[in-house]
Amino acid sequence: MIVIKFGGTSVGDANRVANAIDIVAERRERKPIVVVSALAGVTNELVAATEAARACDIDRVNAIISAIRQRHEDVAMQLVQQKFDFFDAFLKQLHKQIDQIHTILKGIAMLGEVTPRAKDKVVAIGEKLSSVLFAYSMMMRAIPGEHVDSEDVVITDSRFGEASPLMDETRDAASKTILPLIERNLIPVMGGFIGRTLDGATTTLGRGGSDYSAAIVGAAVRAEEIQIWTDVDGMMTCDPRLIPSARMIERISYVEAAELAWFGAKVLHPKTIAPAVEQNIPVRVLNTHNVASPGTVVTSEGGKDDGGPRAIALKKGITIVQMTSNKMLGAHGFLARLFAIFEQLEVSVDLITTSEVSVSVTLDEKHNLQELVRRLQPVADVDVRDNQCIVAVVGRNLMRDSGVGARIFDALQGVPISMFSLGTSGLNLSIVVDEKDADRAVRSIHEALFERVIPSVARDLGEGAPRGA
Ligand code: ADP
Ligand code: ASP
Ligand code: MG
Repeated sequence: MIVIKFGGTSVGDANRVANAIDIVAERRERKPIVVVSALAGVTNELVAATEAARACDIDRVNAIISAIRQRHEDVAMQLVQQKFDFFDAFLKQLHKQIDQIHTILKGIAMLGEVTPRAKDKVVAIGEKLSSVLFAYSMMMRAIPGEHVDSEDVVITDSRFGEASPLMDETRDAASKTILPLIERNLIPVMGGFIGRTLDGATTTLGRGGSDYSAAIVGAAVRAEEIQIWTDVDGMMTCDPRLIPSARMIERISYVEAAELAWFGAKVLHPKTIAPAVEQNIPVRVLNTHNVASPGTVVTSEGGKDDGGPRAIALKKGITIVQMTSNKMLGAHGFLARLFAIFEQLEVSVDLITTSEVSVSVTLDEKHNLQELVRRLQPVADVDVRDNQCIVAVVGRNLMRDSGVGARIFDALQGVPISMFSLGTSGLNLSIVVDEKDADRAVRSIHEALFERVIPSVARDLGEGAPRGA
């Protein structure tokens, strides 16, 4: 069995859905399980609808919902209209789902407040609709797709908006819902991003979570491979939207890919890797617009033995909290007191640097920030700096070549650095810069590491003599 997951742009319109179905059909003998995202942009629209409802802007809610309904009707018209009973069945589902979320949105508007549970119910319909449409479109072409409700497969805890799977329950559920279909040579099709709690409430796995669904399902059925079909050729040395000359990475290790995902390479959801690692299942990132490209394979071994820089990721919207106190000098227990406050407020930190009298951390969300500062103030002087950005250079055994560090810092000449951290795992060198300097910093580091070839990097990339090194 393999899992084939299509992202939003890969199912953005009728032509793309048709192309995605070709991809599934060509892999039929590998017993695919299909996981689809919502049509491109639909989840953003659903989030906007909940915001509009909270602001009691009913006209905007109605406009968004009717646009979503119209878009799905249009795509269905192109894909399944010839078979009236499919078209009719899809429209019935569409109208039922739309009516249901309309009722919820009206409730939100009445209260002027949205609970995470209600929000999940609303945003989940993007994947519910796209997966039903995908299954009908397969059947239209006599490919035996069978829709499976993802809520009957992915069982989660009740952290609405950011739920985690309960793997034992999910394995049981998958063996009841998915495996019997595979045995009958059918192709299960389910929406990504969605799960259900043990007591029956709809949950979502966090934005970009359809990758995570693919890995959860792949792990639950012990698939042989998890394929993430997207709109780029694979994982690249940097986001190609930022660096058009970014290069494809053929093979990368789980740890490197997870680190890149965590630090902003949204081609894979940060949590995707975990269920796959557990079962040692390779994850392959592939391009729906360029099926011939071999893509990137993520495995536990990765691409090479001796490491070096593989890629650069960029995470925006970072806040630095700097805590300074003379009481830190030679004292023990000081850090424990500071971090107890972070724990009490459930604020998690990404990077930490310390000096004799101060400690700085980065936060990637502002949740509880004011309260955090208020509680830290009796213990230390607190300075908060926002609009920061983490530029992370990732690769196993990153600094094995002293030239790497020299090149990075040389490339950053003229860019003020707010923080700098080299993980002891040797996997990640992170530099925090002001957001306005971030793109420039990434371009020059990328140029220094991947465009002007260092001898060791050239060797790893299988290239000949170094150019301009
Ligand atoms: P999907 O809708 O298929 O899930 P996403 O938009 O979530 O697609 O992820 C694909 C996007 O990730 C690409 O279009 C690209 O801009 C971005 N991206 C960020 N970092 C990288 C990287 N290192 N390699 C490839 N793509 C990246
Ligand atoms: N549709 C969801 C989102 O946009 C999940 C996904 O596409 O992976 O976040
Ligand atoms: Mg994605």
